[in-house]
Amino acid sequence: MEADIPTLLPWQSEVFQRALKLKREQHLPHAVMLETPSDYQMEHLARYLSMLLLCDQPQDISLCGTCEACRMMSAGTYADFKLVTQEVDPKTKKLSKNIKIEQIRNLIHEIFLTRKYDRLKIAVIYPAETMNKSSANALLKTLEEPADDVLLLLITRNPGRIPITLRSRCQSWTIDPPDEAQSLTWIESQGVNSANALQYLQYAGGDPLLAQNLQQHNYAQTVDSFKSNFSAFLRGGRSASELCKSLSSSEIAVSRRLIEMTLNAYCFKTCGVGSEEQGSSTQDRERARSLLDLQRRAQRQLQVEENNLDFQLQLEDVLISLKQILTRRLN
Ligand SMILES: [Zn+2]
Repeated sequence: MEADIPTLLPWQSEVFQRALKLKREQHLPHAVMLETPSDYQMEHLARYLSMLLLCDQPQDISLCGTCEACRMMSAGTYADFKLVTQEVDPKTKKLSKNIKIEQIRNLIHEIFLTRKYDRLKIAVIYPAETMNKSSANALLKTLEEPADDVLLLLITRNPGRIPITLRSRCQSWTIDPPDEAQSLTWIESQGVNSANALQYLQYAGGDPLLAQNLQQHNYAQTVDSFKSNFSAFLRGGRSASELCKSLSSSEIAVSRRLIEMTLNAYCFKTCGVGSEEQGSSTQDRERARSLLDLQRRAQRQLQVEENNLDFQLQLEDVLISLKQILTRRLN
């Protein structure tokens, strides 16, 4: 049973302390929008925070692990706790882009209209910005007449993408990203040696949870082989589809990160940030503009549903555009 109790991530502790304090003072709001610095482990965060609020005897911000609430939560039998996220279509195996209105309706029915235990009821929606308009509206109606002893928790990394009408009904809590030292300590505590820890943290743009994910997928090796395949591609020794195929064994999130990093690196280089060179030619400026455009476009393009074929096609398109920009000669 102990294995089902989530562990505490140190940089989240401030928010947990705040939540417990509000609970003790009986000032827990009906709805919270929790902003987290990472797209990773949102479910883990939701579980820990919910268990902490349900636990009868938390020790500071640690779960007691033995009370009725802890036991039910870790066994998955506490029926007044609901998690809603994007679903995988059983036929296509694709992850839906949106949280659908039926999911929100079911949630409202299960959490707001029925009661199984004499405890706090908790409904979590994550990533909350994936609710479509009708889902958000359905939820909004519920928040206009909040029920007692219900906590609605919206977890997101992009609060700006949540309709303001919904946001304004939530109390806003924020988890600040950990600093570098804290991140490194944590990554090392996950069994990564210190030399690799720093490299992975850089790969992940400072997000230790993404760093852990990349490390588990042997990202350093993927980067090395991508670099040599990419130079062959630029020289014409490899086609875009061959280059994409070489990435197809990686998880989509890993490939996406790799392309983001490649585009960022070229933008950085072309814009001359940090370079010793003074001034830039028209050609440089033109190229920088094209790269920034491509970077923005790629961000949208690579957010396709988790379908490998669609992703490969988008990826190919981005790589061909990148090659055109990098090899184009301007008069
Ligand atoms: Zn407990």
